[in-house]
Amino acid sequence: MSKSFKNLVTGGLGFLGTNLINKLLNNGETVLCIDNCSTGKIGNIKESWDNKSFHFIKHDVLDPIDFNVERIWHLACPASPVHYQLDPVNTARTIFIGTENMLRLAQKCHARILLASSSEVYGNPTIHPQNEDYKGNVKIIGKRSCYVEGKRFAESLCYDYQRMYNLEIKIARIFNTYGPEMSIKDGRVVSNFVTQALKNEPITIYGDGMQTRSFCFVEDLIEALIRTMECEYSCPLNLGNPFEISILDLAKMIKLKTSSDSKIIFNPLPEDDPLKRCPNIKKAQKLLKWKPNISLEKGLELTINHFKKKLNLN
Ligand code: UDP
Repeated sequence: MSKSFKNLVTGGLGFLGTNLINKLLNNGETVLCIDNCSTGKIGNIKESWDNKSFHFIKHDVLDPIDFNVERIWHLACPASPVHYQLDPVNTARTIFIGTENMLRLAQKCHARILLASSSEVYGNPTIHPQNEDYKGNVKIIGKRSCYVEGKRFAESLCYDYQRMYNLEIKIARIFNTYGPEMSIKDGRVVSNFVTQALKNEPITIYGDGMQTRSFCFVEDLIEALIRTMECEYSCPLNLGNPFEISILDLAKMIKLKTSSDSKIIFNPLPEDDPLKRCPNIKKAQKLLKWKPNISLEKGLELTINHFKKKLNLN
C-alpha cells in the first residue's frame, strides 16, 4: 500500500512552496514535498529538514507518482518570466502534463487539489483592476504564452476533471508576490531591485517604468492560499494585494529604503510585458474573510533586511 500524508506540495522548494510548507508544519500537519530542484533548492527548506512531519522526494511532476494524500497543493512550475522562458516547451509540458498527473492522483485518492494559477491568465489586461470574470487579453503565440496559455489550460483541465469526476478543486490566481526568502537570482523585479540597490549597482528598469504591478507580501498570500484550500467554493479567486505602483516608483522606494547610491537606468521592455496589473479581490475578501495586512513599505523593509544578511552586508 502507498504511504499516506496529509499534504502534498509540488514545487515545494520554491519561494511560495517553502513558505507554505513552514506554515503547514507549524500547524502540526504532515507534508510530502516534491520538487525537481530546477529552480527550487534544498537549502531553501533547511529549517524543516529535521522535522519528522516533513518528507522530501526529488521528483518531476512530468512523471506520475502514487501516494495517499488528502490535499494537493500544485505549485510546481518556474514562475519568473526569465526562468519560464528559458525552456518554454518544458514550461508548457510541466503545466499541462504536471497538472494532469496531479489531477489523476487527486482522483485516485479523493484528495482536494489547489492549482496555483496566476494573474498571467489575464495577459495584458484591458479592464482594470482585473476581476475573476474578465476573460483576459492574451497573445497566443508570444514568448510568455507557454506560461500564460499553460495556466489557462490548467484551469480548464481542473474544471473538466471536476465535471467528469466530481473532484474538489480550488483555483488560486496569484498576483505578484515578494518576501524575504526570494532568491537573489529570482530575476523578478523586487529581488532584482533590492539586490542592485544594496550593492549600489544600477537599478534596471525595463521600459519607461510607467507599467504597474501590485505586490503582495508572502505571509499574506500564504494565509490566503490556506483559506482557499479550506473553503467550500471552487470558483477561481484572485489572491494579491490591490495596492498598485509603477515600476519607476517601486525603484525609487527601494532606493530610498536602502539609502542606496544606485543610478536608475532604463533597458528595453521585454516582449508582451503587461502594462498594468492590479487584482480586484472582492471575491476573496468575501469568501475567505481575508485581506492583505502588510503594506508594501513594511514588506519591503522586512525583505531588505533579509537580503542584507544574504548578501553579507550587515
Ligand atoms: N522589471 C524591471 N526590471 C527588472 C525586472 C523586472 O523593470 O529588473 C519589470 C518587468 O518588465 C515588469 C515588472 O517589472 O514590467 C514586473 O516584472 P516581474 O518579472 O517581476 O514579474 P511579471 O509581473 O512581469 O511576471
